[in-house]
Amino acid sequence: MDSHPCPERSASSRPPGDGPDALWSASLGREALVALDVVCEAVRLTTAIQGQAADGTITKTDASPVTIADFAVQALVAARLAREFPDDALVAEEDATALRQPSAEGLRARVASMVRRSLPEANTEQVLDWIDRGGGTGSRFWVLDPIDGTKGLLKGRQYVVALALVVNGVVRAADPAHARVLCSYEEQHGDAARASRALRALGSEEPPIRMDSQAKHVVLAAGEADVLWRFPPDIHFHDSIWDCAAGSLLIEEAGGRVTDLAGRALDFTAGRRLLRNHGFLASNGTLHEAALAAVRQAG
Ligand code: AMP
Ligand code: MG
Repeated sequence: MDSHPCPERSASSRPPGDGPDALWSASLGREALVALDVVCEAVRLTTAIQGQAADGTITKTDASPVTIADFAVQALVAARLAREFPDDALVAEEDATALRQPSAEGLRARVASMVRRSLPEANTEQVLDWIDRGGGTGSRFWVLDPIDGTKGLLKGRQYVVALALVVNGVVRAADPAHARVLCSYEEQHGDAARASRALRALGSEEPPIRMDSQAKHVVLAAGEADVLWRFPPDIHFHDSIWDCAAGSLLIEEAGGRVTDLAGRALDFTAGRRLLRNHGFLASNGTLHEAALAAVRQAG
């Protein structure tokens, strides 16, 4: 998962628009929104029952523990994914074999009642079936570890609800169609026509996020946007080094990439301005090559 905090309310209810308010996941893809939402719901559940999980533990054949939380989270996530993406398969760690044993009646009931905190209509048979959806296969599938670090959960240390989407063998990251692109608020600070050609070439369906200053760099470094570019208003314009130096470091330290619009490293030895560079391009790293290709296409 990415670094978004759990939303207080559904992220999709926020309208897109200019400035920082547009940053919140209004422009994430539906898959990312659903994943974020259901993982947050799962974590609310595990947080609520963390203290009771220990006496709902069974030991698997590899001697690792599995708790009512593992089963309940898997059921919850599987149910939501089945509803939202009925054609997607799920590959998840647990299955309901042990819970279906006649002797597991008590455990079964506890798992079902935990799931009902989020899905009040769920009956026990449905809960077991949801858990067993985790043995799926296909070219597009979700991968779930309902509790990564069960011992951490039991002992009050760290654990993770880990959910990812694999499409054609690749764990899906930032999709250019949902790329959130930052640009200057001031139109005269850039070449708006070239920027909008590049946005079309990138394939982003999201409105650009217009912001002032290196606040854009901070937002990119924080993972709240994917691409930041400045198309100079004319061929004579070069950025001042103080408008890029600190922000570039933040982006690179956060794992992103910074170049000019031709893909060259920024050359801070050319004086007070970046005289040996043309424009500015920064990204989360994943989308950098796609952004460079879009810039080339934009001319
Ligand atoms: P931004 O908010 O990204 O446009 O960046 C703000 C700073 O970039 C300004 O304070 C200027 O130093 C500089 N800047 C960017 N583009 C231009 C431009 N076309 N003309 C003059 N200064 C610019
Ligand atoms: Mg300035």
